[in-house]
Amino acid sequence: MNGPDHWKVLFADNTIGEPEIKAVTEVLRSRWLSAGAVTRQFEQEFAATLGVCDAVAVSSGTAALHLAVLALDPLSGDEIILPALTFVASAAVAALHGMTPVFADVRSERDLTVDPADVARLITRRTRAIVAMHYGGHPADVLALRDLARRHGLVLIEDAAHAPAVRVGQRMLGSYGDIGCFSFFATKNATTGEGGMVVAEDPAVLDRVRLMRAHHLSSTTWQRAQSGGIGYEVAGIGLNYRPTEIAAALGRVQLERLAEDRTRRRALVAAYREALADIPGLVVPFAERAGDSAHHLMAVLLPPGADRERTRAALAEGGIQTSVHYQPTNQFSFYRGRFPGAARTLPVTERVALRLLSLPLHARMSTSDAELVATLLGEHLRREATVTEETWPCSTRSGNA
Ligand SMILES: *Cc1c(COP(=O)(O)O)cnc(C)c1O
Repeated sequence: MNGPDHWKVLFADNTIGEPEIKAVTEVLRSRWLSAGAVTRQFEQEFAATLGVCDAVAVSSGTAALHLAVLALDPLSGDEIILPALTFVASAAVAALHGMTPVFADVRSERDLTVDPADVARLITRRTRAIVAMHYGGHPADVLALRDLARRHGLVLIEDAAHAPAVRVGQRMLGSYGDIGCFSFFATKNATTGEGGMVVAEDPAVLDRVRLMRAHHLSSTTWQRAQSGGIGYEVAGIGLNYRPTEIAAALGRVQLERLAEDRTRRRALVAAYREALADIPGLVVPFAERAGDSAHHLMAVLLPPGADRERTRAALAEGGIQTSVHYQPTNQFSFYRGRFPGAARTLPVTERVALRLLSLPLHARMSTSDAELVATLLGEHLRREATVTEETWPCSTRSGNA
């Protein structure tokens, strides 16, 4: 139902082409399918792109976050501070180990990254870690968050799922935290279908992540196949979060495409910002921001009072696929039920949650696609505003004024 061919403009799409198909075919012909030489090359190339010493490839972004949490040696009741406005994965892997997710607000309607001032207020004796998430590929304030983490002896985890190869000052995102986590899920800027990557400042942490990725065995299947040995020792808990060589082969090519895709995304975002600028009441977060971004999402805030589901339906009618990033994690029943603190009021998050709408953004789009989306959105919102005025003559507008 509603497969890729149903839509005129897909919300997300990948740039997989002949080079990826060729790379995957080579892996299949090689007959070594689990993590091996291609995975190692992918890791080294990813590390080089980020300007870090090394990286560990894993089977998903969630696996990367899980290993980051495991590297904390979490104790039950330890607290981890993270934005409510992010994907649920980081809260889930923390809660899995008995940690308490403590939800922080975002900075403003125009900057949907976690607010360091709110994070500072939430630090207690039980706090172990802070999660920075680079919403839509736009950098969170990593310098302020790193400073906070240092001063309080906390670990900074970067959920950089939206932000591969984004420069802030002298470094790339993911390398400001003690651990940086990336995702290569199907909708991300670079994809391997499912996949992830971990980087860490401390090589000892990265060594542990590498062990935990493969059952914490002292030697891997790949190494044993090379040496002919059979023995291994297990000095800690591990899981199977190895990527496949197929994914790594895809990742190597996707990494090469990243810069070119970024240029296209930047042009699309510029076209969107121009075309959306005169829609009354619509807010385009991050539009005033200078500096690098992965431009992973084109999120807007609908005018106050506009009905999001009707808007999505009107766009779908015009062949435009949209999404929402995110329903705040602290509003889900599990987190409300398990963690009383999840009910704390987050003024900005609550104000934006029902207005957020993610418009199509991917490197296969043209700027005229973006203009079409903006035109249809503008037309719908104008129609909706007129209907509202006609239906309620003493409209809520006077209440807002
Ligand atoms: C996609 C995503 C994840 C999870 O990554 P998977 O590869 O899908 O497991 C985590 N955090 C954020 C912010 C994401 O966008």
